[in-house]
Amino acid sequence: MLGIILLGPPGAGKGTQAKKISDEFAIPQISTGDMLREAVNNGTEMGKKAKSFMDQGGLVPDEVVIGIVKDRLQAKDCDKGFILDGFPRTIPQAQALDRVTNDLKKEIRVVLSLEVDEKELMERLCGRRTCAGCKAMYHVTFNPPKAEGKCDKCGTALMQRDDDKEETIKARLVNYKKMTEPLLQYYKGTGKIRSVMATGDIGRIYANIANILR
Ligand code: ADP
Ligand code: ADP
Ligand code: ZN
Repeated sequence: MLGIILLGPPGAGKGTQAKKISDEFAIPQISTGDMLREAVNNGTEMGKKAKSFMDQGGLVPDEVVIGIVKDRLQAKDCDKGFILDGFPRTIPQAQALDRVTNDLKKEIRVVLSLEVDEKELMERLCGRRTCAGCKAMYHVTFNPPKAEGKCDKCGTALMQRDDDKEETIKARLVNYKKMTEPLLQYYKGTGKIRSVMATGDIGRIYANIANILR
């Protein structure tokens, strides 16, 4: 059971690295951000509730995200492991995760803490582009697609997220410091945390992660 948590501020590269881990280790990426955006797009009750928080760069209430993750972890494809990308983000979420993994007889083996200088995060998030089709991640300067505005893998048009604009990014970074950074202390106590320098070449960062996982 390879249960992995990816911890790090918005823009640290959690989604980018999660996709690589998922491909090599054949375990699913569980992104609460992706699942919430899908609920918003589908106009579900949960999506309607979540949207106002997301638009303002705030966190969606704990009980909503905890419910999503609890359901998702019970799916068959999580039997051999899973990558939590963007969850937990608060101490109550981490405590709920401990209870859920215990109940489901699943185990978090490692918490990867992705470390990036704060000043680089704004640049990364302002230039982030996502494929509307396969969700591949790009950056206009740091990781551009071969043809401008088009996904290398599937040719679909690239999109910019609504919340990747300067004011909202600032709010997300403030919330990260206040609500999510305390998780580093929480997990230090478990001995499961590993720091990963997450600046520079994406492939080299991944090589370090893969080494830890192996
Ligand atoms: P980022 O790429 O900035 O890390 P995500 O895609 O993970 O962002 O999340 C986008 C938004 O979805 C967050 O700003 C927040 O409003 C909401 N969200 C995602 N995961 C959680 C969570 N675990 N708890 C509360 N809100 C969440
Ligand atoms: P998160 O999921 O933590 O919010 P993403 O994986 O979405 O982060 O990455 C944020 C942006 O930064 C994306 O545009 C991505 O292409 C870019 N990025 C990811 N890793 C790096 C890196 N090592 N160097 C420069 N840019 C990166
Ligand atoms: Zn694509």
